Amino acid sequence: MDARKFGGAAATKTTDRPLWQAMKRGFLGRCPKCGEGRMFARFLRTAERCDACGEEFHHHRADDLPAYLVVVVVGHVIVGAFMGVEATTTLSTWQHLAIWVPITILSALALLQPTKGAVVGLQWALRMHGFGGPAEELETHPEL
Ligand SMILES: [Zn+2]
Repeated sequence: MDARKFGGAAATKTTDRPLWQAMKRGFLGRCPKCGEGRMFARFLRTAERCDACGEEFHHHRADDLPAYLVVVVVGHVIVGAFMGVEATTTLSTWQHLAIWVPITILSALALLQPTKGAVVGLQWALRMHGFGGPAEELETHPEL
């Protein structure tokens, strides 16, 4: 059975933008299209466009999704680790706070930019929010 028959034009469009490769490149802070240019101008601000291939990033709509994902991942890992340490040691509450609060803050800050990059890479691969390619570019920029 031909999967493209049931997916229509959308199924054929996504094949030229590998999802996991785009998300991995975004996670590493690189352009999801070429993997060379930098995606971020500052900590969580994306660059206007890739400095290597010119792919525009300004129209991404990552919004709060990276923060939600970081909360889910960090929350599960830290709470699991806390419960494991709590069950096997006799640390006081202050000792737990001194350990887990800095680890939580640092791991959340460390994961925010890579997670946002992966979300922007996902949006690029799925042609969401202005990452539509030549046909959509002609609709929004008829001068091209
Ligand atoms: Zn690029």
